[in-house]
Amino acid sequence: MSGKRFLTPLRLFTLGLLGVGAIAAGVIALLNTKVDDTPAAAATAGIYGQDVPPATMPEKLLPGYVLLTAHQLALVPEADGFQSPCGTAQGGFVYDAQPFGTPNPARGGKHTGCDINGIGGADTDLGLPVHAAARGLVVYVGEPSPAWGKVVVLAHRLPGENRIIQTLYAHLDKSIARLGQLVGRGATIGTVGTANGNYKAHLHFEAIASICTEAGLPAYVENGTMNRLDPQKLLASHPAPAVPDPYETIRRLRGREAALQQADTPAAELPAGTIPIKPTQFL
Ligand SMILES: [Zn+2]
Repeated sequence: MSGKRFLTPLRLFTLGLLGVGAIAAGVIALLNTKVDDTPAAAATAGIYGQDVPPATMPEKLLPGYVLLTAHQLALVPEADGFQSPCGTAQGGFVYDAQPFGTPNPARGGKHTGCDINGIGGADTDLGLPVHAAARGLVVYVGEPSPAWGKVVVLAHRLPGENRIIQTLYAHLDKSIARLGQLVGRGATIGTVGTANGNYKAHLHFEAIASICTEAGLPAYVENGTMNRLDPQKLLASHPAPAVPDPYETIRRLRGREAALQQADTPAAELPAGTIPIKPTQFL
């Protein structure tokens, strides 16, 4: 009967060898698969291919590259009009130092935005607030290069249309907006700066007729001005109502309410001789 035993030592040894071989083949195949799949995976995971949360977004092609995701597109609010991003809402106390499309042979092209400057000239406008020109969604906050300085990009739905455009605010001293934030028209999103001391303080302001842009491309383009709109024409063709954005008003009231609630909570022990005053008594 022993001759008919299925698992003889020889057969066990052979099966063992086969098993080890199979595992080795599997490991080699897996390694090969990983190597072979890398280019295909990179191609399909491109930013054109899918809508993924920002944390898992593939590396950007360019610094400052902006392509709205489907989720962001759904969130872009409808603007009720556009106002000056600096000075008063009507553009008081500022002027356009270098209008859109101005040829600049030294820089090799035409200006892709307009340079808004304080009427005091030079650096007198350094640190002035930069306002959202319209109600929008913050889709970029960053510094694509030292020459650009801090940049904020907002996306807006044009009033009465389903079309989405973007506005770009560059050379900022401080950027206050947060990525993904909804901002009302007139909300402070940063301050006027010099792009790390590269220029006299001014705001480089662009309007972009697209859901895709690059915050880090040259500000002067030889052949035309890409997908840029004349920001001054945009302000003129879609003027904001002469009242603050109700969205922004509500947001400010909510902020004030929260501050007052905080003030109502018991304060830390005051120094001797201090007369405690509730801020609410002045309202
Ligand atoms: Zn400029």
